[in-house]
Amino acid sequence: MTSNRNVLISGASIAGPALAFWLRRYGFNPTVVERAPVLRPGGFAVDFRGPVHLEVLRRMDILAEVRANQTDAGEMIVVDRDGRQQARLPAYLTAGEVEILRGDLSRIIHDRTKDDVEYVFGDSITSLTETPDGVEVTFERGAPRTFDLVVGADGLHSNVRRLTFGAEEQFLRHLGYYVCGFSMPGHPGLDKHNRIYNEPGRGAALGGVEAGTLMVFASDPLDYDRRDPQQQMKLVERAYAGMGWQVPKIIDAMWEAPDFYFDSISQIHLDRLSQGRVVLLGDAGYGATCGGLGTGLAVVCAHVLAGELQAADGDHRVAFRRYEQIVRDYATGCQKTSDNAGPFLAPRTAFGIRRRNLMYKALASPRLSAFFNKLTTKAASGLQLPAYPR
Ligand SMILES: Cc1cc2nc3c(=O)[nH]c(=O)nc-3n(C[C@H](O)[C@H](O)[C@H](O)COP(=O)(O)OP(=O)(O)OC[C@H]3O[C@@H](n4cnc5c(N)ncnc54)[C@H](O)[C@@H]3O)c2cc1C
Repeated sequence: MTSNRNVLISGASIAGPALAFWLRRYGFNPTVVERAPVLRPGGFAVDFRGPVHLEVLRRMDILAEVRANQTDAGEMIVVDRDGRQQARLPAYLTAGEVEILRGDLSRIIHDRTKDDVEYVFGDSITSLTETPDGVEVTFERGAPRTFDLVVGADGLHSNVRRLTFGAEEQFLRHLGYYVCGFSMPGHPGLDKHNRIYNEPGRGAALGGVEAGTLMVFASDPLDYDRRDPQQQMKLVERAYAGMGWQVPKIIDAMWEAPDFYFDSISQIHLDRLSQGRVVLLGDAGYGATCGGLGTGLAVVCAHVLAGELQAADGDHRVAFRRYEQIVRDYATGCQKTSDNAGPFLAPRTAFGIRRRNLMYKALASPRLSAFFNKLTTKAASGLQLPAYPR
């Protein structure tokens, strides 16, 4: 008889619903609590690459649906101040084998789980107290409840991690850049190609499948309120002051954006992923804001965590140890691919911008781009996927 069946998962983006999917199949009773009032729609494009990613989507029986919803990504075109093309990067290098909007993927997994998983939206955990038999949990809104296990799948700024392991500063490594994105559907002249314009330390990309913008700028850590988008917009406006090309129009549009996103480009590093009956999954445990293959990582690791719990008949001590042994190096390898995201999108010097553009031009050669593609796929494929029951 499987023990520890009642599992509370914090976060309903990718990692949380993916874990709920597998736990339900293995006979556990997952409950997912999400701070947002509804499943968060929209967001940037995320990609899957290599046999491990695709095998997990296949095991979940969602690969066909993900393919049916995939984006029609265009090229990344580097432009100068007047919009003239300087270099272009083939779409498949940035879009992997299957690219899908984060919101679409989240909806697909939620749809597969919503009928037999309890989702609680608009709430957040306020305290976790472990007892010999379980974890007593209090919430901002709901009544206190007791669960057997608790999983933090609540992203880079995880609430469960803070409550269990301590303040975020100990674990968050700032990589010297900030990223901001929002949709601009009404903007004229947008197509599926992403156009990026750079000045030293600043990059602004416009267009692409989301008809939106992606802004990346170099900066030391900034002091701001993560729940105050207006304050964050002021920081972005200041960082992009005086920049050419379409940037003034982008900044004008920012103030009306319904889906403004802003964060530091950072990585999460912890010595261990679990403490007692609490464990971390996805960005909460080994996140990297962008370029770190985070979505594939979250989906693969959710499968491993559920598979190990099932294999250990719910014994969390055995399962959490095995989960950590299996995913630790894999997650670190994927995280490393994010080291260059900032310098790649916003080189700090004019020389750096020219060198990056030269590299883009070189990648127009099919042989070189195939080699580069193999390198990025290597990290995503660096895990021997155990044969858990499907
Ligand atoms: C700009 C950008 C570009 C990216 N590009 C790519 C890419 O090209 N390819 C790729 O694979 N990955 C990419 N990623 C990363 C990817 O989106 C994440 O790594 C992936 O979604 C992992 O998801 P997660 O579920 O662990 O965390 P998240 O997606 O961050 O979800 C966390 C969830 O927890 C919720 N939450 C937060 N606090 C609480 C709380 N207190 N209580 C309850 N719920 C809470 C949040 O609302 C959210 O729904 C990118 C990320 C960014 C920011």
